[in-house]
Amino acid sequence: MGRFKDRFLPDMYLSDIYELDISGIKSRGIEAVVFDIDNTLVTYDDAVAPDYTIKFFDRLREAGLKTYIVSNNNEKRVKKFSESLGVPYYAAALKPFKKYLKKACRDMSAAPNRTLLVGDQLFTDIYGGRRMGMPTLLVKPVSTKDAGLVGIKRKFEKLVLKGEDHYEA
Ligand SMILES: [Mg+2]
Repeated sequence: MGRFKDRFLPDMYLSDIYELDISGIKSRGIEAVVFDIDNTLVTYDDAVAPDYTIKFFDRLREAGLKTYIVSNNNEKRVKKFSESLGVPYYAAALKPFKKYLKKACRDMSAAPNRTLLVGDQLFTDIYGGRRMGMPTLLVKPVSTKDAGLVGIKRKFEKLVLKGEDHYEA
């Protein structure tokens, strides 16, 4: 039995998702990656995928990794962004609930334990991924100007990460 807070802790941490070691995760058996959008890939203000995001997904595809976007944001935002990237998506996904994470894995024909969950929030992204049995990667939020409730959640996230010296949050 682990500590209560262990269920929110990621397997890996990166300050910038674009620094992901693609061949490194492949060699660890990862076949697919599920991404959060907001503050993980881009800021809330980026309606469409910028050039560097498009290139990053090209590199993932070239490496043979399947990709999916699962976001808690609304259909309009997630559709526009995901389509600009050419990646399938689920919006209003209610992470940490497993439903749409499970569907994404199924759509990709990827086993959850070989599907990396990437996100910036412990209580939605990381907890959801862990409930699925997915390996998880926490990224430092792209933007610090979180709106409303997310800002409050950040304070709790800091408490959870405090004392975990392998995370630089
Ligand atoms: Mg996010």
